[in-house]
Amino acid sequence: MTGCTKRSRRKSDAQIISIVGAGLVGGLLAIYLARRGYEVDVFESRSDSRVAASDNGRSINLAMSCRGVTALSDAGILPAVEKLMVPMRARAIHDEKGEVKYQAFGRRHDEYINAVKRTDLNELLLEEARKFPSIRWHFDTRLLHLDVSEKEAHFKRPDGSQFTHAYQRVIGADGAGSQVRASLQQQGLVSTSRVFISHGYKEIAISSASSNHLAREHLHLWPRESVVLLGNPNLDNSVTGSLFLPLKGENSVANLDNEPRIKAFFNKTFPDIAPMVPDVAGDFLNHPVGHMSTVKCSPWHHEDQCLLIGDAAHGLIPFFGQGMNCGFEDCRILNEFLDLYHDDWSRVMPAFYLARKPDTDAVSEMSTDNHHEIQTGIRDPRFNFKKQLEQHLMQRYPARYVSKHVLVMFSNMPYATALAHGRLQNTLLDRVCNQTTQLSDVDWLRVDELMREYDESLARLKRMPHGHLETTPAPTSWESA
Ligand SMILES: Cc1cc2nc3c(=O)[nH]c(=O)nc-3n(C[C@H](O)[C@H](O)[C@H](O)COP(=O)(O)OP(=O)(O)OC[C@H]3O[C@@H](n4cnc5c(N)ncnc54)[C@H](O)[C@@H]3O)c2cc1C
Repeated sequence: MTGCTKRSRRKSDAQIISIVGAGLVGGLLAIYLARRGYEVDVFESRSDSRVAASDNGRSINLAMSCRGVTALSDAGILPAVEKLMVPMRARAIHDEKGEVKYQAFGRRHDEYINAVKRTDLNELLLEEARKFPSIRWHFDTRLLHLDVSEKEAHFKRPDGSQFTHAYQRVIGADGAGSQVRASLQQQGLVSTSRVFISHGYKEIAISSASSNHLAREHLHLWPRESVVLLGNPNLDNSVTGSLFLPLKGENSVANLDNEPRIKAFFNKTFPDIAPMVPDVAGDFLNHPVGHMSTVKCSPWHHEDQCLLIGDAAHGLIPFFGQGMNCGFEDCRILNEFLDLYHDDWSRVMPAFYLARKPDTDAVSEMSTDNHHEIQTGIRDPRFNFKKQLEQHLMQRYPARYVSKHVLVMFSNMPYATALAHGRLQNTLLDRVCNQTTQLSDVDWLRVDELMREYDESLARLKRMPHGHLETTPAPTSWESA
């Protein structure tokens, strides 16, 4: 390659891992690997200061749940991250008339998810990682291509110069648009797909002064026909709004292209929120549109030299708030396989892929289902009754009925197992909802019978050693909810 400088391989290369991408997953992974005694080279296309300062229009506020918390705790950095987290105990659903319904996320007051600012979290991860002298940072280096046969990674700097890095082992944590994945695909080593949805999103800031009358410690939702506004709380009591809307057509990114239209749309669609966003048109026009996609890839590795992780391996649409959580869980489980196989990467990479793939496919499916749920279900009386009934079942049968949502958000149960529970639960809920539409009319003797059938189905599920709904067991037992 022209303008390239070549670095010679070092003696102890087997202990050196190169990571492409210093986003959320790359940052955490560097910490895990440094703790194991590896030397780590991290290559990131953004510049050092901009890692903290820029989001490129992506969601700046994320929901962290059990899986993310567990991985951070395992890496020894949870106490530092906790200072950035704002609890969210329930959804506050704002309807067209300005009425608000509340749906708890968990079963108890102490079961909640956490809002955290992406930039603060990313900065903190890098700060924690910087404590390890064995991690070397290479900002302003964009991967152009990975040559697997030569074990060379070709990078470009912002001034146009290029260089080649000879690697022993490389991990692609470079997000949904991964260049590592693209290179593997170009060389015929993986098959991949990336499917964009027809919605995009825009950030809308709701200042702390204006957000005063929004309930604290809640995830706010304004679901409307084809659009939905989500509001995540920040530490300073402001709320970060993410407006999800179609890319084309009526009330779309393409259509809302000037101040009068944007103001009219907000006043009509979100009359209660419009006064809280003083510069709604400015926010809308100045913030870039974010795009969302589902990424699938198989396998996630090439022999024992190259591995994909996080969004690079399995990008999700964000409607279950699991992308980061799942990527952090990847890091924890990869670390457990390294323990199990004594850092023999030739065993770790395939085992990690085989264990995680069914789970990431499952969470991808659940994220898509949740997209439909948020778009349409949340305004459907039957859907709301099902949710109410489900909460009731969790109170009535606390040891037996734990909803799929609770299993995903408040346990480390493999996603595929949580999905299988969810399917059985859906059948049960449908059978009750076909008989009645309100809690006071439920025939509880009949529900007792259905619960017995449900228990038997769950027991059968647990006995299926390699059933397609069960995952290849990870080397850790999952924490029960
Ligand atoms: C609107 C929205 C809301 C979301 N909400 C949630 C939520 O509530 N909860 C949740 O768990 N998840 C959420 N997610 C998902 C979450 O943002 C991602 O899953 C997470 O950021 C993935 O982390 P990552 O490190 O794999 O990828 P990224 O965060 O995308 O990081 C990739 C890094 O690689 C760098 N990079 C890219 N290409 C190159 C290259 N060629 N060379 C060098 N460096 C490169 C990038 O600059 C970046 O720093 C949301 C996503 C969106 C879009």
